[in-house]
Amino acid sequence: MIAIAIDGPSGAGKSTLARAAAGRYGYTYLDTGALYRSIGLFALRSGIRPEDREGVPALLPKLELRLTHEADGQHVFLCGEDVSAAIRTPEVSLAASGVSAQGPVRSYLLELQREIARRQNVVMDGRDIGTVILPDAQVKIFLTASSEERARRRYEELCQRGTPAPYEEVLADVIRRDREDSTRELAPLAPAADAVLLDTTGLSFEESFQALCALIEARLNGRAAK
Ligand code: C5P
Repeated sequence: MIAIAIDGPSGAGKSTLARAAAGRYGYTYLDTGALYRSIGLFALRSGIRPEDREGVPALLPKLELRLTHEADGQHVFLCGEDVSAAIRTPEVSLAASGVSAQGPVRSYLLELQREIARRQNVVMDGRDIGTVILPDAQVKIFLTASSEERARRRYEELCQRGTPAPYEEVLADVIRRDREDSTRELAPLAPAADAVLLDTTGLSFEESFQALCALIEARLNGRAAK
């Protein structure tokens, strides 16, 4: 099986680019952030603070997570309910960041993610795919962009979705999540030693996609990629 790991901070364009790459190569796209978001949503709905180190692990045995892949992309089911849209709010983003710092949550999701990659060729996007989940992935890309550019993209996405938030708030959220994700003890956001860095600041989607595919093909064809 072939695995393409795409890691990086939020708003670097991971999900759009990873989905497009999966389409191009006929692989399954897996958005791992949706799994952490679902657990964040479950905590919020259960009245448990995402940072609660007793409450959140106690929720895990009650959790039932399932992923499906439909024509319009990945869907995530939480205890039988399709929460694909409900997990996209800024509140759930922060809750996801909170629960993702907890060891039991990461171990719970580790096997689930590995199992999916065992059964099919995947493009997986996340924070620790190349470092922890799939250390043997044939291709590892660390995708990044400046925090202002990432906030601008997130802002536009929220406006398009009809759930706008002030730009300053989105930027503050991006900076806060970056800090939390890269300073946490467990699986902090960092490129794997053998990952290729791709900075998409100032690049259009098409330019980023061309650069990404060139890196993927260079790796898969065994040529040394810078
Ligand atoms: O990628 P997305 O913004 O949906 O991820 C939501 C949160 O889930 C991130 O801020 C991060 O804290 C966490 N996450 C993680 N590891 C992953 C994917 C997401 O810790 N592989």
